[in-house]
Amino acid sequence: MSFVHAATALRTIGPVARTHELRARGVTQREIARAAATGEIRRVRQGVYALADASDAMIHAAEHGGAPACQEAGRLHSLWVLDTGDEKNAPFHLWLGTAGDRRPCGRRGCSDVTVHWDAGTVALGRLPPVENVLLQIAVCAGEEAFFVALESGLRQSRLSARALDWLGWRLPTSMRRLLAFARSDADSGLESLVRLRLHRVGIAVRTQVQIDGVGEVDFVIGDRLIVEADGKENHDDTEKAREGGSRRHKDLLRDARAAALGYETLRFDYAMIVHDWPTVEAAILAKVAAGAHLRA
Ligand SMILES: [Zn+2]
Ligand SMILES: [Zn+2]
Repeated sequence: MSFVHAATALRTIGPVARTHELRARGVTQREIARAAATGEIRRVRQGVYALADASDAMIHAAEHGGAPACQEAGRLHSLWVLDTGDEKNAPFHLWLGTAGDRRPCGRRGCSDVTVHWDAGTVALGRLPPVENVLLQIAVCAGEEAFFVALESGLRQSRLSARALDWLGWRLPTSMRRLLAFARSDADSGLESLVRLRLHRVGIAVRTQVQIDGVGEVDFVIGDRLIVEADGKENHDDTEKAREGGSRRHKDLLRDARAAALGYETLRFDYAMIVHDWPTVEAAILAKVAAGAHLRA
């Protein structure tokens, strides 16, 4: 058998693998030791190795004998994850599946791991299925984080009818109705969040509405109240500074064109929507109470 590099074999398995899986691909014990010593692969624990560029969450979970869970797993699945601002100090969230066995990781400062035991079989180096991650988020991070992640899963066609059914049986009763309310065409987590929060106060919105002479606006309430949610910063600061002026000009131009057509525009940014919703809600409710959403 020809010589097989440990890192090459590991890459075909996943970010994390056991010694016997590497051996089955023709990697010798001596090569595993060599690659671990040079840093080409990383020893996670006895008999378990990871690619040098594996995500820290994946390695940390493997150290505990499980998979990353919850918001972090959502992020690794490329779902929209609601930034609640306290992630840095949060305990590590771990999925052990139905029959997992938790081990200590030995990391300093890692004492209060949050363990999820929802149904399924954990495979080392693999993320939990999307439906499990959504259930974990529902239980740990609440309704809004769940809804945002759910709509991104639907948008990316990551949930089969069976997965949704599985979820429906296990979700907290109060959140089941969200499965019916969720859509698969949300453009961003911010859009999902605004739709949900307005729905709660009895306001229905149309999303991504095309208005002749204005372009596509984020939301329209009633006939003529436009709500624009300026997205989370996609640009770094220098780029923003360069673009800031022209973007503001474009927004003002859109608002003026919309006004000429009889629309009113309310414009909020990401920080306001996520962190200062009462201000946003009060502005929208006042406009609606005054009938600003209805044709004169
Ligand atoms: Zn959790
Ligand atoms: Zn740990």
